[in-house]
Amino acid sequence: MSRHIVILGGGVIGLSSALACLKRGHRVTVIERDPQRRGASLGNAGMVVPSHFVPLAAPGMVAMGLKWMLSPESPFYIKPRLDWDLITWGLKFWRASTKAHVERSAPLLRDLSLASRKLYADLAEKEEFGLVKKGLLMLCKTQHGLDEEAQTAKKARALGIPAEILDARATAELDPAVTMDIAGSVYFPQDCHLQPDRYVNTLLRLIRAAGGEVLDEVEVTGFRKSGKRVVAALTSTGDEIAGDEFVLASGAWSPGLVHDLGLRLSMQAGKGYSLTLPAPVELPQICAIFTEARVAATPMGSSLRIGGTMEIAGMNETVARRRIEGILKAVPQYYPRFRREHFEGVAPWYGFRPCPPDGLPYLGRTQAADNLVIATGHGMMGLSLAPVTGEVVGRLVDREPAGFDGFEMLSPDR
Ligand SMILES: Cc1cc2nc3c(=O)[nH]c(=O)nc-3n(C[C@H](O)[C@H](O)[C@H](O)COP(=O)(O)OP(=O)(O)OC[C@H]3O[C@@H](n4cnc5c(N)ncnc54)[C@H](O)[C@@H]3O)c2cc1C
Repeated sequence: MSRHIVILGGGVIGLSSALACLKRGHRVTVIERDPQRRGASLGNAGMVVPSHFVPLAAPGMVAMGLKWMLSPESPFYIKPRLDWDLITWGLKFWRASTKAHVERSAPLLRDLSLASRKLYADLAEKEEFGLVKKGLLMLCKTQHGLDEEAQTAKKARALGIPAEILDARATAELDPAVTMDIAGSVYFPQDCHLQPDRYVNTLLRLIRAAGGEVLDEVEVTGFRKSGKRVVAALTSTGDEIAGDEFVLASGAWSPGLVHDLGLRLSMQAGKGYSLTLPAPVELPQICAIFTEARVAATPMGSSLRIGGTMEIAGMNETVARRRIEGILKAVPQYYPRFRREHFEGVAPWYGFRPCPPDGLPYLGRTQAADNLVIATGHGMMGLSLAPVTGEVVGRLVDREPAGFDGFEMLSPDR
């Protein structure tokens, strides 16, 4: 039976959900406050990563985070402040950073990622959004880094995700388009990359063609409820958007929207930056992560995007120059033909990753309201998991099972 689905937020998660609901024959309205920026959806590194089966909350992360906090150029930073949400988030992060949590989460993250990758590959047969299925290189500057990555490769293979450990020469043979100064790499052949803005524009075109409604420059300010049901989304224009089902897909802004419904989503915004070189001196063909520096490099058409940092410092709009310097310093260390000067005049982009403390998305129904589906908190994997999230939202809207073992781990009420 066709119903009216109202989607709160037009980032990659909201738009992927909208398309999936339209395909199921529903009427869909997407409400987006800031269509030019779209949260973290446009300037991200564009990687689709079945290799990322380890959630952010993992053994060793707390110690590494504390060490990194001392350096203004480090890739990870938590601004210490007396804020109850941050304190409880930190405690939950610390409690979740266990081997048992990683072992429980990895098969679910793998299954979601592989399903998402397939959906991307299927869509790319009909639409062009820059999907390149050439894998991902985890570049290691040091032998120590390579030894650590080799451990991840071993775990990946145990989960059925192919991973190859390569020395510097074999890495150079795989991507001869770029000069590298490294000890070696781990190659994940199933990973891919794409151009996030082209994916978003493809979704918008398909949504409109299927009769979906997109309300741009409209902010959701709250909800009108009747008993346990949401009746309408209240908006900045004064219009109330009534619907049968509502989908929360507002990225890092999600917790504030549902607070009054009694749903407490523990989440911090993880700010990251990217810089896109329009005419790089060399154009790698395979996307890469500079492992020790935690910096991503993604070819996008003829340009090269460099991105990184995870700054947990609230939703402030300041640009931390020192941290951008940290990103830029890493580039010539791995790609020696690149120079700091190449980035002169390139404006940094930033976005807020929606980060739950246990590193797993919030995806599912909630006790807070009978007709509300939560689809947020994808942290570093929102682009990667967008198509499968849309698919799952469609199933949940139709009260079907999500279709993934261990799915209850993603419950927004956990
Ligand atoms: C530097 C960087 C690199 C990254 N690289 C990758 C990568 O390679 N691969 C990957 O998978 N992920 C990556 N990510 C993470 C990815 O960008 C996010 O996980 C993803 O964008 C989350 O999607 P979303 O739709 O949930 O949130 P967002 O992209 O933030 O979208 C939320 C949308 O909701 C709208 N909104 C919010 N509140 C309201 C309101 N009240 N009313 C109306 N609209 C509202 C916002 O304007 C926004 O458009 C990266 C992130 C960063 C910062």
